[in-house]
Amino acid sequence: MTSPLSPPLASYSSLLQVVKTAVQTITPQATMHQALQHIQRDQGNCLPVIDPMNGMYRGLVTERELVKAIAHPLPLAELTVADVMRDAQTHLDLATLDQPMQVLHAFRQFRCNALPVVDRQGRLQGILNRQDFRNTLEPTDLLKLKRAEEVMVSDVRVISPTQSLAEAAAILGAEEISCLVVVREAEPDYPLGILTDQDILNHYQQTPNSATLPIQACMNAPVITAQTQDSIWQIHTLMAQHQVRRIVIVNKQGKLAGLVTQSSILWAIDSQEAGWIIDLLQIELQQATSELRASLSQHQALTAAIVQRELQYNKLLGQLPAVIYQRSLEPDWRLIYTSGYWETLSGYRPGMIGEMASLILPEDYERAKLQIQSAILQKQPYVVEYRCRHRNGTLIWIQDRGQREPDQQILSGILLDVTAQRRQEELLQRYLQRELLISTISQNIRRSLDLTQVMQSAADDVRQILQTDRVLVFRLLPNGLGVVEVESLAHTEQSILGRFIQDPCFLDNLSRKLTSGYTATISDSHQAKLHPCHRELLLNLNVRANLVVSIHQNERIWGLLIAHQCHSPRLWLTDEILLLQRIGEALAIAVNQAELYQQLAQANQELQQLVYVDGLTQIGNRRQFTDLSLAEWRRAAREQTPISLVLVDIDYFKLYNDHYGHQQGDAILYRIAQQLAAGLQRPGDLATRYGGEEFALILPDTPEAGAIQVVEQIQEAIVTLAIPHAASPITPHLTLSFGIATLIPQPTQALDLLLTAADQALYQAKAQGRNTYRIHSPTTVDIQGQPAPHPAQKLE
Ligand code: GH3
Ligand code: MG
Ligand code: MG
Repeated sequence: MTSPLSPPLASYSSLLQVVKTAVQTITPQATMHQALQHIQRDQGNCLPVIDPMNGMYRGLVTERELVKAIAHPLPLAELTVADVMRDAQTHLDLATLDQPMQVLHAFRQFRCNALPVVDRQGRLQGILNRQDFRNTLEPTDLLKLKRAEEVMVSDVRVISPTQSLAEAAAILGAEEISCLVVVREAEPDYPLGILTDQDILNHYQQTPNSATLPIQACMNAPVITAQTQDSIWQIHTLMAQHQVRRIVIVNKQGKLAGLVTQSSILWAIDSQEAGWIIDLLQIELQQATSELRASLSQHQALTAAIVQRELQYNKLLGQLPAVIYQRSLEPDWRLIYTSGYWETLSGYRPGMIGEMASLILPEDYERAKLQIQSAILQKQPYVVEYRCRHRNGTLIWIQDRGQREPDQQILSGILLDVTAQRRQEELLQRYLQRELLISTISQNIRRSLDLTQVMQSAADDVRQILQTDRVLVFRLLPNGLGVVEVESLAHTEQSILGRFIQDPCFLDNLSRKLTSGYTATISDSHQAKLHPCHRELLLNLNVRANLVVSIHQNERIWGLLIAHQCHSPRLWLTDEILLLQRIGEALAIAVNQAELYQQLAQANQELQQLVYVDGLTQIGNRRQFTDLSLAEWRRAAREQTPISLVLVDIDYFKLYNDHYGHQQGDAILYRIAQQLAAGLQRPGDLATRYGGEEFALILPDTPEAGAIQVVEQIQEAIVTLAIPHAASPITPHLTLSFGIATLIPQPTQALDLLLTAADQALYQAKAQGRNTYRIHSPTTVDIQGQPAPHPAQKLE
């Protein structure tokens, strides 16, 4: 190691002394990993690369190469020194060491803190550390080394303080010097002051005719002195301190020894030394200036960039349709900071509002506060929504997202105006509600054929949605008359349900031939331009505002759907009008459907008639017998009433046909059928053609005696008819045989029981010679449901 003490003056020899000769080197083939291990700090992180074959200097590895190598994709162990080293140009020529400016230049050029020193043959001689080099060049050392006595002018011209300025001027002029040392009059070796040509000139300018004044009046005193052994550096410092260009030198005894001026300091340094020291100082100055400038401009650029950024940031923040805020948690969200959009959002300038809570609807604030508290407890960010009152009075919806600052009672976050979204949602909600209502009404229409019920529930729903006092379905009747068919009413209002309203001027004007929908609105019956009689009608009904749509049927107006606002004017909104129109359309479908249903029911009845009537005899057919006998059977079982069945068969009808012809037979069948039907008295009784020349009489709620009575009356009627039957083996007239069965059915029993019994009774009547009736009514029923024989079979 070289001693840190620098020699006082730069010279070739002193520089050589600071060149380190014990140097760590590396070969080009070594890896960068090895280089990393070898590089040494006291060598200025400079690792010269030496060809192992010939010992020649090949290049240099510094910290910078190491950093590059670390950044290289290959690992250090695989990178050779040759891959990354600087070339052999990076060095100091041994021969230039006597030219400090060149050395300095090399350090700057290669940007190294240490450089290999290489001789003319290209061999490494050592390493010169930049700091060591600089230490040898310290210019003040030079000044410190030289003493005042070495540079002072000893031949100093002195003058007495009592001499005049004119005398002093004469000496200065004659001897071509610029100053005089003023010495004590009695002891001329001791300096009192100093007088320069400049002092004389200054004095003459201020006080003309002062030539006779003594020198002591204008000399510089007390005199500033230095000792002969003081260094030039000390003298230089004195000059700077006192802002003078000359210093009087005294010996240890204080006697005048000489004078040092600024020029003599410069002369003290020989021209060659002075030249490069000045250069060096200039370079150092330039470097310092440019570094300062660079850092200044960097600083300025940085400041400008920060200002720019801040401007951009604020501008962006201002443009952002959201407020960034900081506010205290308690009390009531005191605002600490709000970004530019706050003014737009709230209408208030920053600082105008202390607590944000004062703008929020109280119920919303309480809810939001609870939500935020619970989020904070769970250490979660919060998202809440609430309504705020804008300065202009409108309500706005705010979405507030944020979080609590760690360990502080402060919330930071962002406020978004979500009013538009909420309005949209409300609209959507209203739309959905309307669609739901319409679909409910449509479903009701499909499910129910009860028109009044459909209209009532529609009126109730409409009144609820529109929040009106009254909703009516008003049906138009002929002659300008109408009737309130359905009414939904707030309990505070008076009912007009069922009321007939005669409004010739309105209803007559309303063309019944209108094919498209009719809609009318009145916002305020007090203000609107109305026909007097119409206004009177509305006032009579206590109607302040109304909304009317037509209910059409078959391209004419069937009636009106009307919403009434009784106590206040009301501006009907488009979607309210739309709603009523849609409901009006739905009700029109209901009206049409009810009408159709009525027509259909009638048609069905007619059809049923056709289905149940026997074409030949025009009484009920076998199908009617099957349907109704079963229905009556079940009813009798339910009500536990007796039911009687009578089977009727024409005697020897084949022979009749054979004798009189089939057509005559048909006519007789008709007559008998009509006679049977006529013989039944009660509305529930039914005569049907059972098949061929057989008939069945169903007699609900009729005990056996009643059935017998019916049969006997028929027999009498037939006797009265006296239809000739020439071919009959028993009488000359047509006769009938009857089988009667009566039963109170049990729920487990089937209708067949009654049928079989009646059939058996008829069989018996035939077997007994015809033109008679027999009874076979099962009174007790066994488990299998078989009828037991009747004990009293009545014979004619
Ligand atoms: P019984 O006294 O035993 O009942 O003798 P019957 O001839 O009446 O009975 P049978 O069952 O032998 O014949 C029934 C006849 O009824 C056969 C048929 O000529 C006649 N008949 C059935 N349906 C009709 C009809 O629609 N028109 C006419 N003209 N005759 C019919
Ligand atoms: Mg028969
Ligand atoms: Mg017969």
